[in-house]
Amino acid sequence: MVQRKVRVRFAPSPTGPLHIGGVRTALYNYLFAAQHGGDFILRIEDTDSQRFVPGAEAYIVDAFRWLGIPFDEGAGYGGSYGPYRQSERKDIYIVYVRQLLESGHAYYAFDTPAELEKKRGETANFQYDASTRMAMRNSLTLPAEETARRIEEGDPYVVRIKVEPGEDIHVHDLIRGDVVIHSSVLDDKVLYKSADGLPTYHLANIVDDHLMEITHVIRGEEWLPSAPLHVLLYRYFGWTQTMPAFAHLPLLLKPEGNGKLSKRDGDRLGFPVFPLEWTDPKTGERSSGYRESGYLPEAVVNFLALLGWNPGEGRELMPLSEMIRLFDLASCSKSGAKFDYEKGKWFNHQYLMQRENGEIARLFMPLLEEKGAKADVAYVEKVVGLVKERVNVVGELWEQASFFFTAPAAYDEKTVRKRWKADTAARLSELAALLGEHEPFDALTTEEAVKSWIESNGYHLGDIMNAARLALVGESKGPHLFLITEALGKEETIRRLMRAIEVLN
Ligand code: GLU
Repeated sequence: MVQRKVRVRFAPSPTGPLHIGGVRTALYNYLFAAQHGGDFILRIEDTDSQRFVPGAEAYIVDAFRWLGIPFDEGAGYGGSYGPYRQSERKDIYIVYVRQLLESGHAYYAFDTPAELEKKRGETANFQYDASTRMAMRNSLTLPAEETARRIEEGDPYVVRIKVEPGEDIHVHDLIRGDVVIHSSVLDDKVLYKSADGLPTYHLANIVDDHLMEITHVIRGEEWLPSAPLHVLLYRYFGWTQTMPAFAHLPLLLKPEGNGKLSKRDGDRLGFPVFPLEWTDPKTGERSSGYRESGYLPEAVVNFLALLGWNPGEGRELMPLSEMIRLFDLASCSKSGAKFDYEKGKWFNHQYLMQRENGEIARLFMPLLEEKGAKADVAYVEKVVGLVKERVNVVGELWEQASFFFTAPAAYDEKTVRKRWKADTAARLSELAALLGEHEPFDALTTEEAVKSWIESNGYHLGDIMNAARLALVGESKGPHLFLITEALGKEETIRRLMRAIEVLN
């Protein structure tokens, strides 16, 4: 067989924000294409007008821009296999629907929704298939003239695939191996509806994969049940020679491991399941996103890459170029991947530490503004350098660093009880006086001066340091005390010491 250029596609339906599982599917497609020097295509599968959500396509495009995953071709990207929105390909599909009708692999069906409903009521597990189709209203049971007349008169109809019973259908899956399904379990799926002149997912998906010369279909496990039908369609069209290889990726599971990861899990446990924030255009309901929660795109990508794929040798942190080099469908797992969001935070921490303080400061600025804290970038950069070790996501910087921007409005009671002693006020005013004289105000020399004052007076080092921290921070946290005084500066340090004496004494 001729070696074809690798071409893969990500084919989302624009029915809402893109779930993080969809992002992983796209990522694996990208890694695979990049490794083989192939093309990565974005195709919008919007043939279900009932489920179409405005803004969903733009959201998808934005999400991949943010993540740094580029498409080579597709909706919004252009290319020579377009259009890439299925709703713009109506005329193309008609030709293929006709082909199936003419070759006898599909037929017209006129059953009304009410009639189908009635059948389902009468027969448990009713399925439109070889065992029932001859008792239904379709072009196989009606006289040819009547079929022609109904179509002529504009009676609504659907076109169904005619699945022949009694054969094993083999789906060769690059992750799961040979998956065999007996054709009798398949139903005569609807391929086309005259009501809106649009094909259904199955037909559009196969026709487009063929016309766009897709070589590998890498998608979520939830599509595995559709694969046998797709194999049949390839055969009915006579395209078996160029049928893409299939790879069905494992599900993303709840952190506890029982069942599929859902938006509810995210809400319940406090992590996003979407790449970007999303506001539902109908209900106005807001869902949080990784970007807005202060995650770095490269951390999200690295984290997702390892949900279902194991590069071996305990490798975890790696740049995209390394993922491209190592990625291998055969080493993707068959069983579901637990969504361990603590691990996601760990990845983000690692990538955050690799960023320059200035860059982190820039990401932190909008949050500071939101909190009403005013500070110049240079100061924020310095503060970031002092506390970044303690955070996983940018959003946590405020929690760790708020006291650098606003003086404590209150003092933590437990700490006060423990650290504020009878002589504390006297010691802190001496300290304030000493600091007033001390110049310059850098951490090193200030620490030296303070320590020698403590020593020569026989004071208790811990008592004074803890009380001073309480005065400056409001509680017993934060980086090294003299890094705090240096950042705050002389004036503010003394002001906070005096204020604590006033309030706590
Ligand atoms: N439109 C389908 C989806 O939303 C595509 C499935 C496939 O990749 O074949 O996931």
